[in-house]
Amino acid sequence: MKTKEYHIISAFPKILESYFNDSILKRAQDKKLIKIINHDIRKFSKDKHKNIDDTPYGGGVGMVLMIEPIYLAWKSIKKKKKSITILLSPAGKVFNQPQAKKFTDYDQIIFICGRYEGVDARVDNIIDLKLSIGDYVLTGGELGAAIVIDAVTRLIPGVLGKYESTEDESHSKKGVLEYPHYTKPETFKAGLKKWKVPKVLLSGNHAKIKEWRERNR
Ligand code: SAM
Repeated sequence: MKTKEYHIISAFPKILESYFNDSILKRAQDKKLIKIINHDIRKFSKDKHKNIDDTPYGGGVGMVLMIEPIYLAWKSIKKKKKSITILLSPAGKVFNQPQAKKFTDYDQIIFICGRYEGVDARVDNIIDLKLSIGDYVLTGGELGAAIVIDAVTRLIPGVLGKYESTEDESHSKKGVLEYPHYTKPETFKAGLKKWKVPKVLLSGNHAKIKEWRERNR
């Protein structure tokens, strides 16, 4: 199986390091199922002060990320055939589980992360898709990239262990959400209150348990 490459073009390339270097994403990298490469926009700046942003034409508040360093970073990365370039943007198509499944088909996913007021609109010439992770505004696109990488990676065969499964979970089928889970103890004492596990789950009757789970989704 080919290693899936994720490339993140960002003004803050270290910001996601700790998230990627732990748990399932770390394991997937150790197993060479995925590779996550951070690219510092600043390294591609030709400006003597290494500036990467400037004021907007036409006036207005805030700064805009310049096209040149982003284009040069993208050009140095874009090599694979099955490659997609995504601009994180609150104005994009909202990310969902079917989209995550589609992204598993690509060998290379390149994320362009905006900051400040966003990215020079000429970025549209190099992107395939604008993606939003929800109808709210964040300070940058990096968290969006991490969310997409996380959701896509857990769908790659071999990433999850045998006790973790993507088959029966929320959004695996349209409109289907997961049923409630319980684990030990059978009764949890919360002060004077007792919170119990539903009896049917202790019954050993698989048909009834299945029916209960379907009803409680
Ligand atoms: N001026 C922009 C607007 O009004 O739509 C907001 C820019 S935002 C402060 C800076 C960057 O954060 C964006 O360019 C984008 O890359 C990222 N961002 C913010 N909210 C996002 C969201 N909901 N989904 C994906 N990316 C987002």
